[in-house]
Amino acid sequence: MGSVFANLLTDYMFHRIEDITPEFLRELGVRGLIIDIDNTLMRWEEHEAPPSVREWLRAASDAGFKIVLLSNGLRSKQARVAGDLDLQVVAGWLPKPLPSGFRSAMRVLGLPPSQVASIGDIVFTDIWGANRLGIITILVEPRSSRDFLGTRIWRLLERLFRLRRAKKTDPK
Ligand SMILES: [Mg+2]
Repeated sequence: MGSVFANLLTDYMFHRIEDITPEFLRELGVRGLIIDIDNTLMRWEEHEAPPSVREWLRAASDAGFKIVLLSNGLRSKQARVAGDLDLQVVAGWLPKPLPSGFRSAMRVLGLPPSQVASIGDIVFTDIWGANRLGIITILVEPRSSRDFLGTRIWRLLERLFRLRRAKKTDPK
């Protein structure tokens, strides 16, 4: 298996972000989270996270995890969601999977890649970009079948190359 292909596969997979427990993250040595917004925290067509996600974010903060948001979505929505959830959103010069946003996020978290997990719903942005920097990757199922037009191409490629599968099942 070539390294490009290996970088396309996520380390771990969960159905929803709410299914990822603090214990699981702690066992991996994770201390900081870079979290995607659209279809990870809320449905693409919605602007507010559901109560279950709010509760999960609160529990993660209480457990001591540092959290930043990193999204390729509309800046106006990013700002609104960050304000609403009282979280910091990081802006990259260029969209994911390019490294600038992930690097900014790690600077804000003040953590090395081995202590950071990227959580998102798209292999080609949230997972590929993070894998290349040595960040731990966690893929979740999209919360909605609706998405940005460009994302539909990613979805097609994910299916075509059977990329929605994890390299690992247990921590480490
Ligand atoms: Mg997304």
